[in-house]
Amino acid sequence: MELTPFKDKIYLSSPTMHGDELKYMKEAYDTNWMSTVGANINELEKQIADKIGVRYAVALSSGTSSLHLAVRFAGEKLYGKTEGGYGTLRGRKVFCSDMTFAATVNPIVYEGGIPVYIDSEYKTWNMDPEALKEAFKRFPEVRLIVVAHLYGTPGQIDEIKAIADAHDAIIVEDAAESFGATYKGVQTGSFGDYNCISFNGNKIITGTSGGMFLTDDEEAASKIRKWSTQSREAAPWYQHEDLGYNYRMSNVIAGVARGQVPYLSEHIAQKKAIYERYKEGFKDLPVEMNPFDDEISVPNYWLSCITVNADAMCAQTRTALGYEYKSEPGKSCPSEILETIASLNAEGRPIWKPMHMQPIYSGCDFVSAGDRAVCEDIFERGLCLPSDNKMSEEAQKVIIEAVRKSFE
Ligand SMILES: *Cc1c(COP(=O)(O)O)cnc(C)c1O
Repeated sequence: MELTPFKDKIYLSSPTMHGDELKYMKEAYDTNWMSTVGANINELEKQIADKIGVRYAVALSSGTSSLHLAVRFAGEKLYGKTEGGYGTLRGRKVFCSDMTFAATVNPIVYEGGIPVYIDSEYKTWNMDPEALKEAFKRFPEVRLIVVAHLYGTPGQIDEIKAIADAHDAIIVEDAAESFGATYKGVQTGSFGDYNCISFNGNKIITGTSGGMFLTDDEEAASKIRKWSTQSREAAPWYQHEDLGYNYRMSNVIAGVARGQVPYLSEHIAQKKAIYERYKEGFKDLPVEMNPFDDEISVPNYWLSCITVNADAMCAQTRTALGYEYKSEPGKSCPSEILETIASLNAEGRPIWKPMHMQPIYSGCDFVSAGDRAVCEDIFERGLCLPSDNKMSEEAQKVIIEAVRKSFE
């Protein structure tokens, strides 16, 4: 097979529009609901709450703002309201996923909290319940856990919830990447006390940007609605008793997301087909696909990832900002594979670099159940493959071939 670069770039995961988005955006325009109020917002909140199976949904400007207000509310609930209404986690340790996007954990710091990073397990790549248990032994005072479901694969939710319950801890669930994925038949984004999804441009469905806060707790939903619109009191003038933010979703963006909702299952089916074609294409290579337990969960297959088997890794070294590797017959590494993919005008990515390895978080504690950090190992041997819905089977064959060539 000829490996010539694609004329049109193959993306990791780019927006896939269908037409309805424009209809709802135009409706907003034609009726002049061009602000943070309107039918698209109301309808989107209703549809997402129904889909996920929670009582309340609050549409916000991003997944990150949703996570911020979720941890702020959790902080107030656990430790009381602070003077000024900010820094509700001031000086408090919070357990959180280690191998994830920084947006999962930064909001803890926005509220003055101190992240304690929890290692992953190999079954789903998500928070390791054994490491979480270990963390509670070391820091029994901790009462808040922020847990993400990576790449669309639900983590070990029952185990994590049982540990949280035993320690009377609150869970904030970051389902930004896993919207539509289920665990024991139940949607992710409904397991935490406070839950978040994202409509960022690269997620399974998108509003171009945007996010949503989800909960069964009426007080949490109404507070977060109020905080997200500058915390105005019901007074004839601008009256403020609480710190506010400009975090509400726009009705135009809600129109895009609303137009995407009916296509969620189609997107998942396309991503699943991509995952399965990679799996089939790599079956005789020394690599593993990102794993999940098919008896317990159904992922949304947001991104297809691989890890190179340890004994098939060529020498690879990474510094803070660069890397080197030494190509070897029969072996390869993420750096080599990513270079090969990039040379075809396609986009792959390394696995999320663990938070405990990030310079800004170098002072934070990291808890692992074993001697070797699972996160570090997956980061070293793993990468995300082009997983765009619109990638043709032909294009994917070329990418599969390129990965094979990396091992020659
Ligand atoms: C995308 C993402 C977020 C943040 O969502 P935004 O809408 O981009 O702010 C948070 N957590 C994870 C795991 C994500 O992948």
